[in-house]
Amino acid sequence: MNIMLRVGINGYGTIGRRVAYAVSLQDDMKVSGIIKTKPDYISKAASKEFNIYVPDKASEKKFDEAGIKIKGDLGKLIEDSEVIVDCTPEGRGKENIRIYQDRKIKAVFQGGEDADIAESSFNAYSNFNESVGKSYVRVVSCNTTGLARTISPINDLLGVRRVNATLIRRATDQNDSTKGPINSVEPSLKFPSHHSPDLKTVLHVPEVETVAIKVPTTLMHVHVVELTLGRQGKAEDAVSAWMQRKRVFVLSGKDGRSSTAQIMDMAREIGRNRSDLYEIAVWKESVNASGDKLRYVQAVHQESDVVPENVDAIRAMFQLLPQADSVEKTDRSMKISGSVI
Ligand code: NAD
Repeated sequence: MNIMLRVGINGYGTIGRRVAYAVSLQDDMKVSGIIKTKPDYISKAASKEFNIYVPDKASEKKFDEAGIKIKGDLGKLIEDSEVIVDCTPEGRGKENIRIYQDRKIKAVFQGGEDADIAESSFNAYSNFNESVGKSYVRVVSCNTTGLARTISPINDLLGVRRVNATLIRRATDQNDSTKGPINSVEPSLKFPSHHSPDLKTVLHVPEVETVAIKVPTTLMHVHVVELTLGRQGKAEDAVSAWMQRKRVFVLSGKDGRSSTAQIMDMAREIGRNRSDLYEIAVWKESVNASGDKLRYVQAVHQESDVVPENVDAIRAMFQLLPQADSVEKTDRSMKISGSVI
């Protein structure tokens, strides 16, 4: 008999609803329920697919009034689940972990939490095995996931001694009309930016320097990466290493995909759920090798690149499958196909 692991999703915003969708595609796990705070259009749509829970008893009344059936509160969701994926707003995880520990339930946290919330930080390519059997795991942020995804195959092939990356960050997500900037460029004034220590939690590379700049767009982040290699390699070696990994999408700017607008349009065109692009898009023309340096430019769909990692993190924690099998299963179920067009 196929036993399905019961996964509860606490927080159903940008990341939570995508993780719920991804879990619902797996045949070794299922969504026991999701927590919503407000009976809005997202709750109404979600109630057709998932059991809805609320953070606390006090929230039940407003859902009743909106005609949305509630199965219980966070305590009940924990009772009905074997693991919680915490997708609440950044910083809230440190309150929630106390509840999970008291109730002795495993939990996955997201990149908005400090690294020390969990026993390990997670990226499926670079350090899956460090989360095997763990109770509390943090999937690193969208930017860090993007860097680990493309650097890890190069590290395996040629070794990486130093990472130098400039991160041009989207201001906020598409459904958010409250944040900015809307007409300025905001550099982070700290060197390195917080992405440097974060990357080191999942990718064991001696030196990492990052700088981050926020710009007025909601579509994707763009990274300009320079790696100092352990052994010299050609641009073709790097491209071929990425082509073997489905979570990296090597594409050309020549056929109309020269900006994040067109890459996101491609995701719509190929029928991706919510127009997501789980893969990290690397522009082939930008890949350049010279001496011990490899340089390239990549785009990261911040709303979705971490989603397959959440599924794999759960499998690592429960030892459901080894790394390669889990990644393959997740990719197949989510139709993650890498450089297909
Ligand atoms: P979000 O604001 O889109 O979603 C958070 C959801 O949690 C909202 O629906 C909110 O109503 C709900 N919520 C608020 N308080 C709650 C509570 N007490 N209990 C349950 N739910 C509650 O945020 P997000 O972008 O999905 O971010 C979630 C986490 O994922 C953060 O750690 C963030 O840093 C990380 N992350 C975000 C992105 C991104 O680009 N959005 C990418 C990678 C990682």
